[in-house]
Amino acid sequence: MDERAPLENTGSGLQNYDGPARGKFGDIELSGPIAAALADMGYETPSSIQLEAVPGCLEGRDLVGQAITGSGKTAAFSIPICERVDPYSRDVQAIVLVPTRELAMQVAREVERVGKYRGISVCAVYGGQPINRQLAALQRGVNVVVGTPGRVMDHMGRGTLDLQHVRVAVLDEADEMLDIGFAEDMEFILRHTPRSRQTLLFSATVPGFVKRLIRRYQDDPMWIQLGAEIQTVDEVDQIYFEVAERDKQTALRLVLDDTADNYRMLVFRRTQIGVDRLANSLKSRGFGAMGLHGGLSQGERNQAMGMFRAGELPILVSTNVAARGIDIPEITHVVNYDMPDNVEEYVHRIGRTARMGRQGYAITFMAEWDYEGWEKIRSHIGDDKLIQGKLPIYD
Ligand code: AMP
Repeated sequence: MDERAPLENTGSGLQNYDGPARGKFGDIELSGPIAAALADMGYETPSSIQLEAVPGCLEGRDLVGQAITGSGKTAAFSIPICERVDPYSRDVQAIVLVPTRELAMQVAREVERVGKYRGISVCAVYGGQPINRQLAALQRGVNVVVGTPGRVMDHMGRGTLDLQHVRVAVLDEADEMLDIGFAEDMEFILRHTPRSRQTLLFSATVPGFVKRLIRRYQDDPMWIQLGAEIQTVDEVDQIYFEVAERDKQTALRLVLDDTADNYRMLVFRRTQIGVDRLANSLKSRGFGAMGLHGGLSQGERNQAMGMFRAGELPILVSTNVAARGIDIPEITHVVNYDMPDNVEEYVHRIGRTARMGRQGYAITFMAEWDYEGWEKIRSHIGDDKLIQGKLPIYD
């Protein structure tokens, strides 16, 4: 494994940084520029996963991190990437694979923020955006590429992305990438990076294929498991309502009536058309709501996400895939308007709220045909964590 680039080598990257050469993030020793960036971001103490993962990753060790979003895993891999990449080389030295466009943008932003005082350049590559813009950035030379496997493969095929100088490869939400059908792409991409690379793999669950990735592409990885394999965040009040399908809109309105000001609500629906219908109906009743799903143009998706993130839009109605990995700490309510398909999906969805210790609500509607699905979720989560609510319409 290559040594970390010495800091004195990092001339112009440090132009905005004139602090000490070394710094601290809690008990973790970092270079001054990275420690200063984290302080700017308001990260004062490391989260559990950061505390456990970062020191080993800085030494070049491989890692399997079984942690859900909200644990601070993005910084846990962004910090070692930003420390280990040489900003003065124009080679791509780190590649991060993520399941969705939104996550690609979000992770790229986090790496950029962590690396800003070292002058680390980052490019997000994902489908739906004109390829030319990404081509131009890649041609200028970037240090870190964050992308969805499909678009990364596109660039490799065109010869615009060369991975032979990669030192760190990250698979973020490996189980989700598997579910979306990126299994072969992930392997193809890893096989085109040097064997000597460091491989960091994050996955909430470890199904057979992920085990195979670990066996084939990792070298004696550290395993970090936060709590049980499937865990929910304790700060979330998890409430469920029995509600007939035809009454769901009324039920949602009752939930909204009961919500304090300044709420930020993410509502999950199963289908794109369901998202459109609900968003339109909420809008027509005067609520600030927009839809987010894969059938919209990238511009529309960015607009909805941007406004929701900025607090200009109180309600975002989304399909699973579009909302995967979304990190907006201010989300106060997650509503499972349509029942998640399984426990993992439930945990992923409700992991959108109560991030990093904030209070949040997860509300689940259980309709006529959801009994079986809900039973599975309920038995896994445990009755002690669930509150059964009652809607006044059924009094
Ligand atoms: P993640 O699990 O990576 O999606 O991170 C969840 C949220 O925690 C994000 O809003 C991060 O900005 C935030 N975060 C990550 N690490 C820290 C930290 N050490 N201190 C405070 N906030 C953090």
